[in-house]
Amino acid sequence: MKEHILSLSYGKDSIAAIGAIQELGWPLEHIIHVEIYATQTIPADLPPMMSFKAKADEIIKAMTGLTVERVRPEKTYEEQFYTKYSKPDGVRYGQIYGWPMVCHGHNFGAWCNSRLKVSALKKAQKGRIVYIGIAADEPARFHNLSDTKKSPLVAAGWTESDCLRWCKEHDLLSPIYETEMRSGCWFCQNQRVDALRRLRKTYPEYWALMLKWDVDSKRHFRPDGHSVHDYERRFSMEEAGQLNPDDRSFRWKRISETG
Ligand code: SF4
Repeated sequence: MKEHILSLSYGKDSIAAIGAIQELGWPLEHIIHVEIYATQTIPADLPPMMSFKAKADEIIKAMTGLTVERVRPEKTYEEQFYTKYSKPDGVRYGQIYGWPMVCHGHNFGAWCNSRLKVSALKKAQKGRIVYIGIAADEPARFHNLSDTKKSPLVAAGWTESDCLRWCKEHDLLSPIYETEMRSGCWFCQNQRVDALRRLRKTYPEYWALMLKWDVDSKRHFRPDGHSVHDYERRFSMEEAGQLNPDDRSFRWKRISETG
């Protein structure tokens, strides 16, 4: 008999899937969460998100009797970043991976997703029935469902707003829905400028790590060719009053003109 596993992102839909599973009376043996680490000691989630996850785990334990299993990918982001390409016939042979390749604002297929997240998830899900948090009003994602990949939310008819309500009612709503915090890794290349600016201000030690990685990467931080150091320059100029952070008409050439 196959075991049943829920993969939790701590977003509203995957958390609410627990409520739907209980309503449906479906079996559930494991709840797992793939937890990326930036370095051996620094998680990819920011401290407020880590606190929320700890609180959520306690509520989930009381609700289901299950302990959320945190699965760590084999390597940290930094370890994969500094791993060298090993295919002798590849164009990047001998170079470090560096910043993942980003295509138009998403990293699907980029190594941070495939090498870290997806491979750890696949390993944990192998041979099990997997529950995923696809809501009843997300038909564009239904093609992901099968006999071994089921959505309790679809089966129970729960929409995204039902999930939001359920999480609120159970004190399980992640801070990303009510604060400026975004989901995902703090070093993600897809972040908006505001998020990078906030990261630099609130967590200068994390920003310093990004500046270090930026020096060592052959690939640019942003697909438009800008580096973390470009942002460092921009934010420093804002602090010095040479640039207005709220100026929506900002152009990079202003930095070279002013600098
Ligand atoms: S949040 Fe960003 S950095 Fe983290 S795995 Fe996803 S795409 Fe990669």
